[in-house]
Amino acid sequence: KIVNVDSNIKPYRILLGNGIRYDISDYLQPQYSSILLISDTNVADLYADDIMQGLQGYDSVYLEVVHAGEQSKSVDIYYELLTKAIELGLDRHSLIIALGGGVIGDLAGFVAATYMRGIDYIQVPTTILAHDSSVGGKVAINHEQGKNLIGSFYPPSLVLFDTATLATLPTKEIRSGYAELIKEALIADEEWFEKLLSEPLARLNRDSLTEYLKKGIEIKARIIEKDEKELGIRKHLNLGHTLGHALETKLGYGVMTHGEAVAVGLLFAMHVSEAEFKINLPKEKLSRWLEENNYSFNLSIEMIDELIDLMKRDKKVIKQDIQMILLQNLGEPVIHSMDVTKMKDYLATFIAQIS
Ligand code: NAD
Ligand code: ZN
Repeated sequence: KIVNVDSNIKPYRILLGNGIRYDISDYLQPQYSSILLISDTNVADLYADDIMQGLQGYDSVYLEVVHAGEQSKSVDIYYELLTKAIELGLDRHSLIIALGGGVIGDLAGFVAATYMRGIDYIQVPTTILAHDSSVGGKVAINHEQGKNLIGSFYPPSLVLFDTATLATLPTKEIRSGYAELIKEALIADEEWFEKLLSEPLARLNRDSLTEYLKKGIEIKARIIEKDEKELGIRKHLNLGHTLGHALETKLGYGVMTHGEAVAVGLLFAMHVSEAEFKINLPKEKLSRWLEENNYSFNLSIEMIDELIDLMKRDKKVIKQDIQMILLQNLGEPVIHSMDVTKMKDYLATFIAQIS
């Protein structure tokens, strides 16, 4: 399966397939002077050998493994990888391959974006969530003051998504990535939303998952083509992320995964949308499905002030208002500004409802 992204910066292809990691060399242009494969401790154990074997025809192929987890998206690890790249003699005709989830994609992508003013890189996503992070060209590392504060728009040359690698994904990570698929359905398409919730995650099979991933990627690709730098409609993809990011930061990345926090954020966005626009959205349906699939909500009244502070610190704040994506209806996202007091009230009624 192929999705083309007609990026203004650089067009690229996304290939999805069962087992395509073994064929990586078929998709590489032959001229790379050297290749640096970057992965994390979990993924490298499982899949780095497969990729390395596929690259046997190349003279200089190196592997760098960083610790699994969000902590690796740091300035320190970024600097270490640059040092490695220099020591290994990578030049402007070298290639970086990011093998892993969103952490590796963002980190290795940012190394590629900045090493010698930018060299080619390929995304080889291995999490469901990475269907989102590997497409769209956003690459970043974290600052102590906040997530993704250091970064760039730097599209990959290719995304090679081997859906077979998802078989080893822990349940928590399946929940995480699936929340982003639900987000895409909410901003795009009611029927598809119904379909995504038609089965429990435990019964998800690879064929339907591949179809869902492709559809999610297509939705994102079509948005990026219109607004790559997030000046307008790309912001719609932040549905659920205002509260999501705040929750993720408050609880620490280890407690709640990105997508689990986004799932709560999606419910909150629906809650606010219903009140602001006097409409009905399938909030109950989503909330029930999330509960049945063991998503954790982790919200309490005592957290409100801190969550509001964190939301204010988010990039999306203009003056005193918090910018949030709402739904005028299913498939009709809008950018909405809301003052802090109102946000606080909504958060209080929301927490009372879900706990
Ligand atoms: P992750 O990369 O940390 O992966 C989650 C966990 O699963 C890790 O422990 C990893 O080692 C493990 N893992 C990965 N693939 C595996 C596999 N196939 N089998 C077994 N274990 C596997 O996290 P993630 O959820 O993929 O990505 C989250 C990151 O993505 C965050 O840093 C977020 O900011 C970023 N993100 C970026 C964008 C973007 O547009 N650039 C979009 C969304 C999220
Ligand atoms: Zn997200």
